Amino acid sequence: MELKFEQIAGFPKSLSEKPQHFCPGCTHGVNVRLLAEVIDDLQAAEDIVGVCGMGCSALLPDYLEFNMVAAPPGLSIPVAEGLSHEIGDHTLIVVYVGEGDLYGRGLSALIHAAMRGVPLTVICANNLNMGMSGGHLSPTTLTGQKTATTPRGKSAVKYGITTDFSRLLLNIPGVSFVARFRGFTAGEIRKGREYIKRGLQIQKFQRGFAFVEILGICPTNLELSPPEAVKRVKSATSGIYPSGIFKTPEVGITL
Ligand code: SF4
Repeated sequence: MELKFEQIAGFPKSLSEKPQHFCPGCTHGVNVRLLAEVIDDLQAAEDIVGVCGMGCSALLPDYLEFNMVAAPPGLSIPVAEGLSHEIGDHTLIVVYVGEGDLYGRGLSALIHAAMRGVPLTVICANNLNMGMSGGHLSPTTLTGQKTATTPRGKSAVKYGITTDFSRLLLNIPGVSFVARFRGFTAGEIRKGREYIKRGLQIQKFQRGFAFVEILGICPTNLELSPPEAVKRVKSATSGIYPSGIFKTPEVGITL
């Protein structure tokens, strides 16, 4: 019998071969690969500009083989919006930013770009803390979660009740697509790949603002091994940060 071989996966062209410097087990590494795979699928590497935020997200330009701009803290959306106005007609703009940056200093800019329905695809990596700067409190830190600045656990009275920021976008008419996946199981990661692709396709068809949140883990600052961090985050966030598509254009587009 003659055996036939078919390659079903390979190293994405849009991913650099340079060694990455994320901590072992960090979800950023998977997220970067997903983005590269989707850009390959869409054959978009020549027609896309990325904007990354600060913190661990700022490492992305070294790992992706397309043009990227690093924005100052809180300003990834204004930088992306400026690019969209200048070069956005035929160029896709993708933003990759951590939750501390986007939902903290960047929240007002996020809401206003969403209200204007700016055609952008925004990916928010939510790992419940400010990773690179030492693991301090971020806007999505869970009530009771220990961080570098809340060593006895986050107080809801002092710092606010745990909030699902991506849901703030649901009632804004300019927002076409909102989805989230929990990026630490194989099934969710496969689903998330489709969400990122859909977010970029919605932008391509000028259907407005698309938003994908990735719930991830930061094992280093949780001071846990990657499997323990997955277990902890999975159980602590179930029901608080669920996955799924929460909003999508009413008139469908062929994906
Ligand atoms: S500090 Fe946390 S978020 Fe940053 S690379 Fe390490 S594990 Fe990932």
